[in-house]
Amino acid sequence: MTNSSRPRLFIIGGNFAGLSAARALSSRHFDVTVIDPTPNFEWLPHIHELISRHKKADQLRHDRQQLLDRAGHRFLQDTVTAIDKSQQRVQLASGQYLAYDELIIAVGNISLIEKIKGASEYAIPFGSVSDAERAALQLQRLDSLSLPERPVVIVGASIEGVEVLGEIIRRYRRQWRFQLHIIEAQDSVMPQYQGIDNYLKELSKDLDIRWHTGRKVQEVCKDSVVLDNGEVLASRVTLWCAGAIPHPLLAEAGLAPQGQYAPVNAALQSLADDHIWIAGDAASFSSDLGKQAYHALPMGALIARNINRARQHRELVPFKPLAIPSLMSFGEVGFLLSKSHALASPSLIAAKEGVFQANFNLLKLPRHVSEWYDLKESLMFSAINIGKLAKNTWTEGKLLHARHFQARSR
Ligand SMILES: Cc1cc2nc3c(=O)[nH]c(=O)nc-3n(C[C@H](O)[C@H](O)[C@H](O)COP(=O)(O)OP(=O)(O)OC[C@H]3O[C@@H](n4cnc5c(N)ncnc54)[C@H](O)[C@@H]3O)c2cc1C
Repeated sequence: MTNSSRPRLFIIGGNFAGLSAARALSSRHFDVTVIDPTPNFEWLPHIHELISRHKKADQLRHDRQQLLDRAGHRFLQDTVTAIDKSQQRVQLASGQYLAYDELIIAVGNISLIEKIKGASEYAIPFGSVSDAERAALQLQRLDSLSLPERPVVIVGASIEGVEVLGEIIRRYRRQWRFQLHIIEAQDSVMPQYQGIDNYLKELSKDLDIRWHTGRKVQEVCKDSVVLDNGEVLASRVTLWCAGAIPHPLLAEAGLAPQGQYAPVNAALQSLADDHIWIAGDAASFSSDLGKQAYHALPMGALIARNINRARQHRELVPFKPLAIPSLMSFGEVGFLLSKSHALASPSLIAAKEGVFQANFNLLKLPRHVSEWYDLKESLMFSAINIGKLAKNTWTEGKLLHARHFQARSR
């Protein structure tokens, strides 16, 4: 600790988990700095909607500096390149070394794209607003070109890939000109539920879409994708929605075995160091805890609470993951996914939108009267949109068109 009475607390990564921790820490008690290479907080769970233009980039971003100013904390736009836990300091890409008293690591994960030959060069990843904008532009360009064939490949058909496909269909269904290939390593799409695979195929059966399940991508080339059975698929746009791997910083810092997430105790403290706390996707808390924003947010908040409690020499509180279902979209159909079953209905799209609007707007809690006015306006706008969505599903008689899928026992 320095002469100043406030402990120096650094947060590496300022998205869901990092920002949530920062917001829950008082600047009266801690000298907090959030480090992130990118200027904006991004709401990743809705970036696929940029493809159909149902959302614009600005609707999914908050200025990180502004959010942190509100909390009385510092923002440093930089990348942490190394953590030296013995000297309690981090190294930045800009060359600076910064000493900490407590460190929160919330770096998320990185795309599997880095590991597949040619993929980072020729495929578009799906991990940020700008990735999704790039994908949207390339699809739009391909659609407008006068070509005999317009082949597109989506690699990965778990939630992310399914949502991307849904948005492509939403935008281009009326005049479908793509030859779309979906590659999925598992034997069926979303095999954890009986029947979702067939239902998705049924929803897109009139379109030129080929599903390649039980296949992996071996190489991505400029105009093609090579599968592990040797098949070569032509591709003018390749979208990479397949999986994520742990951030290399975790193993390099000695906080995780090579290629693994960082193990933590019940209070989310690193098992390798009492002054390091791991939040969000970067943490290995339990094997069945999904890498989800709705876990990352409370993890960040709990770490803030525990750091406060540690300062007061009080007992630390264990993390109890929320047992709530997640929401997925396939264009105009929403899915509620729980451990025991899944439900699909157009009405669930309004629910997903509601969760997004409430959480996204609340991240930017207003301080001045004019900002309260802005928040009221944006909540009203959201309420009207959600109302419209609900009304459409009602008037089109789709409200009760729910399909039920049983989870497969593991
Ligand atoms: C397309 C998509 C759809 C999703 N859909 C859903 C959904 O419907 N529901 C849901 O709950 N979750 C969803 N998720 C998952 C959710 O987005 C993640 O679980 C969540 O983002 C994890 O939060 P995090 O703070 O741990 O990591 P992130 O949100 O990934 O944030 C990590 C931050 O760390 C920064 N960083 C990385 N390396 C460094 C470094 N070396 N130095 C400094 N900063 C660094 C990054 O710039 C980033 O800002 C989705 C994710 C994607 C990509």
